[in-house]
Amino acid sequence: MRSSVSAPDLGLVESLLAEIKKIPCINSHSHMGPEAERLAQQMDALDFFNHAYPTADLVVAGLSSENKEALFDSRRPLDQRWSLFEPYWNRIRLTGYSQCILTGFRDLLGFDDLTDATVGPLSEAIQAHSKPGFYKTVLQQQANIAMSVVNMEDLIEVDRTLFLPLPRLNRFSMLRTAEQIHAIERDYDVSIGDLCQHVEVIRQVCRDWKEAQVAGVKMSQSYHRCMDFKERDAGQAAVIFDRLLQDDYAGLDSAEGALLEDYLVFECCQAAAEADLTVQFHLGMRAGNNGGMEGCSPVPLIPLLQAFPQVRFDFSHAGFPYLREGAVLGKTFANVYLNMSWIHIISPFGSRLDLREWLQMVPYNKIIAFGDDLQQVETVYGHLQMARRNFAHALGALLEEGLLSESTALDVAQAAFRDNPAMVYGVNA
Ligand SMILES: [Zn+2]
Repeated sequence: MRSSVSAPDLGLVESLLAEIKKIPCINSHSHMGPEAERLAQQMDALDFFNHAYPTADLVVAGLSSENKEALFDSRRPLDQRWSLFEPYWNRIRLTGYSQCILTGFRDLLGFDDLTDATVGPLSEAIQAHSKPGFYKTVLQQQANIAMSVVNMEDLIEVDRTLFLPLPRLNRFSMLRTAEQIHAIERDYDVSIGDLCQHVEVIRQVCRDWKEAQVAGVKMSQSYHRCMDFKERDAGQAAVIFDRLLQDDYAGLDSAEGALLEDYLVFECCQAAAEADLTVQFHLGMRAGNNGGMEGCSPVPLIPLLQAFPQVRFDFSHAGFPYLREGAVLGKTFANVYLNMSWIHIISPFGSRLDLREWLQMVPYNKIIAFGDDLQQVETVYGHLQMARRNFAHALGALLEEGLLSESTALDVAQAAFRDNPAMVYGVNA
């Protein structure tokens, strides 16, 4: 018998992978825009690196901000841009972000590598395949994605044959200025004179979004703070809100800003509970460079999880890198779901190892296998192939240990890629 920490037999991995690919995936977290917007972009191969994730890798590999600007300046000739890119490309080519781009280029466009010889023909191939209807071809036929949940600020309509909207409550809960309230008044045709009226607007918005059949609501507090929301006194929060309206407010990142935000996060969860909407929190590392990590751990969320046992909390990115803490919450709170969006490309190997641990730790109805967290269909495809491979590795290892049968392994994959996200977001795909 192989050791329990070694990789499973590659033949077994490939045969599981072939079966997992047949499971239509519900993609739990995406930033894809409408196809028409993408077609207007006229992307070439290097433009795929003009995204927060691979750009962050290029920057930490040494790319200066001056050269970054020149690299992504489409008015410059491609060969000049390539010479700026190449030294850093060699440094970042092994990272999950790069592998995900290469997987899309390889499987969808037939190019095994990105080199000075392929960058031109590859860019022409990208242009040639970017035609009306290619979203459907790539997402449904080539990737076998049944539905993608798309993050957005306010609710905007999407192509419902491919996408399901997930609007954010950020603008209602992360208050910076009085102008922000006035903008809500204009956009939602309401008038907000005090905190009670603001909370009533949040409730109405949640009811309207439920009626419009959204996947849930999203909040992203972890980009600016620790997730230690406390239940706060309504009177104190109302006084701060009144002063905010009079432009006498110390801002979101002050003690009074935190008190008001705590209060509003509880109210957003209450509104989501009343409308029966799943709450997705960004939980894990921040995109970009030089970010803090105080918002990564899901542990400080415990008081909120305890206060709302009836709400489905979707931990998007599962608290990466605090995946074990996330798993303890997934194991002990019935209302917590561990969402592997983004993390298959942050750390492909780490995701594999953690998944292997989770499968023996957490009931598998609590695991959501995939969310691309990306913008381009080619990288969504590449990311999904990596996620499926990680599942094949983790399940293959348990199979070799004799801990499950092949049919149970595929039941687990079917739950994680399809049935669990279908339940959490109310998808009938
Ligand atoms: Zn995202």
